[in-house]
Amino acid sequence: MAVSGIGHYDPDNIFAKILRGDIPCRKVFENDMVLAFHDIAPKAPVHVLVIPKGPYISFADFSQRASDREIVAFNRAIGDIARTFDLDAPGYRLIGNVGENAGQEVPHYHVHLLGGRPLGAMLV
Ligand code: C5P
Repeated sequence: MAVSGIGHYDPDNIFAKILRGDIPCRKVFENDMVLAFHDIAPKAPVHVLVIPKGPYISFADFSQRASDREIVAFNRAIGDIARTFDLDAPGYRLIGNVGENAGQEVPHYHVHLLGGRPLGAMLV
């Protein structure tokens, strides 16, 4: 079921559990503010989820409450990760589902990084 992109952060959501190490993930990148890991149900040869370590529900929340440092670090990390997969030249897609109308399932802000094939009109 889709979640609201605003409201109270649920500390027991699945990505909070991954951040705490309670649930494993296939990590591709980590620094003090950002974690990235392979999506468990990939929709493309590269399908990485990039998440801030802070407790933000969605982009709506992150864009209001995160510090400039967190916002810069998050966006810088996405670009760096895309480059590690050699995606700059062929291109890639970034998707951030926010709330119910977008079908956001996990109430911890994340960006889907998709690439490795022509993506057409595919959404996640
Ligand atoms: O943007 P949305 O919230 O719909 O996407 C959540 C994503 O998290 C899905 O693509 C799903 O496959 C992924 N997921 C995951 N590992 C989990 C639970 C969900 O990669 N343990």
